[in-house]
Amino acid sequence: MDFGPLNLLPTTTSAASDFGRILFHSPAAVLKPQSSRDISLLLSFLSGSSLSKVTVAARGAGHSIHGQAQALDGIVVEMCSLPAEIEFYKGGDGEISYADVSGGVMWIDLLEQSLKLGLAPRSWTDYLYLTVGGTLSNAGISGQTFKHGPQISNVLQLEVVTGRGEIVTCSPSKDADLFNAVLGGLGQFGIITRARIMLQEAPQKVKWVRAFYDDFSTFTKDQELLVSMPDLVDYVEGFIVLNEQSLHSSSVAFPANVNFNPDFGTKNSPKIYYCIEFAVHDYQHTNTNVEQASFQVVEVISRQMSHMVSQLYSVEVSYFDFLNRVRMEEMSLRSIGLWEVQHPWLNMFVPKTGINDFRDLLMGNISPDSFEGLILIYPLLRDKWDTNTSVVLPDSGSMDRVMYVVGILRSANPEGGCSHHCLQELLRRHRSIADTAGVRLGAKQYLAHHPTPSAWHRHFGRRWERFSERKTRFDPLRILGPGQGIFPRRD
Ligand code: FAD
Repeated sequence: MDFGPLNLLPTTTSAASDFGRILFHSPAAVLKPQSSRDISLLLSFLSGSSLSKVTVAARGAGHSIHGQAQALDGIVVEMCSLPAEIEFYKGGDGEISYADVSGGVMWIDLLEQSLKLGLAPRSWTDYLYLTVGGTLSNAGISGQTFKHGPQISNVLQLEVVTGRGEIVTCSPSKDADLFNAVLGGLGQFGIITRARIMLQEAPQKVKWVRAFYDDFSTFTKDQELLVSMPDLVDYVEGFIVLNEQSLHSSSVAFPANVNFNPDFGTKNSPKIYYCIEFAVHDYQHTNTNVEQASFQVVEVISRQMSHMVSQLYSVEVSYFDFLNRVRMEEMSLRSIGLWEVQHPWLNMFVPKTGINDFRDLLMGNISPDSFEGLILIYPLLRDKWDTNTSVVLPDSGSMDRVMYVVGILRSANPEGGCSHHCLQELLRRHRSIADTAGVRLGAKQYLAHHPTPSAWHRHFGRRWERFSERKTRFDPLRILGPGQGIFPRRD
């Protein structure tokens, strides 16, 4: 096929792979765009050609789990090839500051550049080596989400190349439907080539606190207490401490001297624990006792908490090190060959009313003594999410403002004995957890993976009509995002 001036390259192994290492779908070719126009030329050509059945996937950093950025026999657009432009606007008094960023820029690069101006985005993911376009196609969540909303709630404008090949600048006031469709849109409507990201003043330091619990209800009650104090608290997450390994691996980046050596029970009668992690920003504007002030804030907060006696640890780290903490875990795992392994991850949004049942369902499906990886649990607030975007949340049947995200971030190392059958069994269990939690608790997958278009239809539920209508409008031939498996390509 002749793509005129476009230089399509032979496929590469990275274009057929991702962080999950579960699916390896090879594209026919790779495009390394130098501009939005290159992407527009490709999509204009494909949408104008009735002969072609070629599909196109944007690939950011390739940190998907289930081939979401892959395109079997199609074309993968390597977003990191776009010039890595970042332009800042520093607002005056009362004005918003923002950065205009190429879609293939990684959040770590935006952080490094913006800190030079004393600024930073407000909302993050735990790991920063992900692209702006990749996380905005999902939601982008972390411990700041309760306060500022997900990353998709912190975008002012996008430049998008639609499935028809049109280059459109959209925002809440211009082409709002495309803007909303693309945010959380799983790469289905257009390719984000530029995003305007809201910035705030960056703190210099962060007070980073961890507290341990031996009771799940007390743990979640304290998490909900923390997210009810957005004026004091800047970040809230939490995780399950299943075994010694999970205690040590989660402490790689946390530089406190943690003296927590609990009894994990026996294989037949395991005991598990929970850890809340919260943070308070420390703005050292003046030299007068500000450090003491943020220390006092932690004191005020922790006095209201009900963690295990003496099991609260606090350290002060730079803002950069705090945000980049997962990089240290990555380095540690790389050094022992446990980063580039299979990752059968499952992430779920769970309504508050179902979080205890979800915990029980989860515990019925894992063996605490042999689990490798991390299980994150933390609360989010519904009203920080814009329901006009494409993101799928549990229906708000009850009036609860709080919902939870649970991330089962599991590693499966073939060299450690988890080969094909073991991986398939883990995937089967995760599917069973997701299906049961969906039907019984109204939970929804985040970074979802579904085996068939009809399962996707169920995932979207009452939001399906709007999602598929948007597809018809912005990508009528269903060229984009084949790796998600939502819309089979149309002739
Ligand atoms: P890719 O995997 O390359 O692409 C993901 C999807 O987006 C694909 O469908 C792709 O086609 C589409 N896409 C990519 N770029 C564009 C674009 N420019 N325009 C339109 N569509 C595009 N997520 C969180 O929310 N919070 C976390 O804390 C978090 N932590 C993580 C930690 C690790 C170690 C890993 C591996 C993942 C984590 N994630 C987290 C998940 C991550 O946000 C998603 O997997 C995200 O899609 C990865 O971005 P990426 O650039 O690698 O995207």
